[in-house]
Amino acid sequence: MNIIVEVGYLIATVSFLGGLKFMSSPKRAKIGNIFAASGMVLAVICTFLMVLSNAVPTTNLIIALVAILLGTLLGKRMATKVEMTAMPQLVSLFNATGGGCAMLLGIIEANQSRLTEVPVGIKILLLLGLVTGAVAATGSIVAYGKLAGKTKDKRTKGVVYGSRVLLGLILLLPLIYFIGFVPVPFEIFTYIMAAFALCYGILFVLPIGGADMPVVISLLNSITGIATAFAGFVYGNKAMIAGGIFVGAAGILLTLLMCKAMNRSLIKVLAGKFKKSSAAADEEEQHIKSIASAEIAMQLSFASKIAIVPGYGLAVAQGQHLCGQLQKLLANRGVHIDFIIHPVAGRMPGHMNVLLAEANIDYEHLKEMNEVNDQMSHYDLVLIIGANDVVNPAAETKPDSPVYGMPIIKAHESKQVVVMKRSMSTGYAGVSNDLFGMDNCSLLFGDAKDSLQEIINQLKLI
Ligand code: NDP
Repeated sequence: MNIIVEVGYLIATVSFLGGLKFMSSPKRAKIGNIFAASGMVLAVICTFLMVLSNAVPTTNLIIALVAILLGTLLGKRMATKVEMTAMPQLVSLFNATGGGCAMLLGIIEANQSRLTEVPVGIKILLLLGLVTGAVAATGSIVAYGKLAGKTKDKRTKGVVYGSRVLLGLILLLPLIYFIGFVPVPFEIFTYIMAAFALCYGILFVLPIGGADMPVVISLLNSITGIATAFAGFVYGNKAMIAGGIFVGAAGILLTLLMCKAMNRSLIKVLAGKFKKSSAAADEEEQHIKSIASAEIAMQLSFASKIAIVPGYGLAVAQGQHLCGQLQKLLANRGVHIDFIIHPVAGRMPGHMNVLLAEANIDYEHLKEMNEVNDQMSHYDLVLIIGANDVVNPAAETKPDSPVYGMPIIKAHESKQVVVMKRSMSTGYAGVSNDLFGMDNCSLLFGDAKDSLQEIINQLKLI
């Protein structure tokens, strides 16, 4: 039986790796997901095989199967019902369960260790998994609350000092315990550590701004992966170790890439710092030109090369299907159309790719910012739909702007630009956009979905 389980775990590990490799391209991301999920199913089956061969009580098996069934039904319901704009919250909630699970594994193992003598090395690994899991669990729940608008940012001195004291205790206490100065049984000590880590998770995330939550979620996701790897070491489970390391590494890489694409350091994100714009820089008068949907339809029908830049507003309006319709309508008339995607457009990585995939827009039409930025002048018209910060030229020209240094899509270098938004409100960074006042730029005010529908109606009349 053991050899079958070992081979099964090996295949599962290869599936995780293959899944990650496939996920590096949006075209194959779906296959990657199926690949990795199949690996996970195989790993679960192997674990059951191993447990069965060890004569486990039937009640335990029944509890495990019922838990799997309930989790599957609940998870499927949540994942299919969720709106695209609420996806980061869901990811956070799922991550909280992963972290909580790693913490519980630690506690259960510690209680079992009462019966046998466990080496110090295993106890340390157990504590590491338990603490990181607990931090990820409560941290993810607070992150969920912030993204859902249920929890407010709290950057008070009490929270900051409280979190520092707790972190100090979490780092120091195990040291003192293993030297022998804390005269409590190991299983009691794990409860104390779990309590501190749960509180630290809350205080760690509370001061961080709600808009930075996707970065924090990615970091917490990575922490859950690390917790799983520690638990894997305790159990000697290779699939758990490999899966945990993959999640941990992918999460930390994604966190750093997001910070880079926003031109902010991880330290500043975690400290809840966001550079404020100087009032003078932001109060410049702009001459705004509005445009009607009929005129845009006319420009589109005369153009030969067009780009669409989607942003968070497109997700809010749920206008992706109309984007797909517009693309097909124009393609039938021989117009070339590209979708240019900024790495942090929207509120989570890949937000726009998923949105456009939902509308069955062909991957060959999706372009990365760096692919096309030096060819922007070739576009007759760039339609910016619900995007703001990611096309703000102040990122290149105004050193005192909060977005300065953030890589942008250079829509302003194209022949004509039309921005579709509801008002003159700012985007996530809270700064006005220099693009809106430029000579080649006009604005169509209104909900992106309504505006797209009007443009399509007008286009059909031409
Ligand atoms: P922005 O937040 O900069 O702008 C979104 C724009 O959409 C707003 O100006 C808003 O204007 C408009 N909008 C909102 N709702 C609608 C609607 N229903 N119809 C039409 N327009 C609408 O979004 P971007 O995508 O340009 O930039 C993303 C920002 O988020 C960046 O600053 C990025 O750093 C940040 N971020 C991204 C993360 C990621 O992983 N993707 C993670 C963390 C932060 P109005 O209200 O006037 O309509």
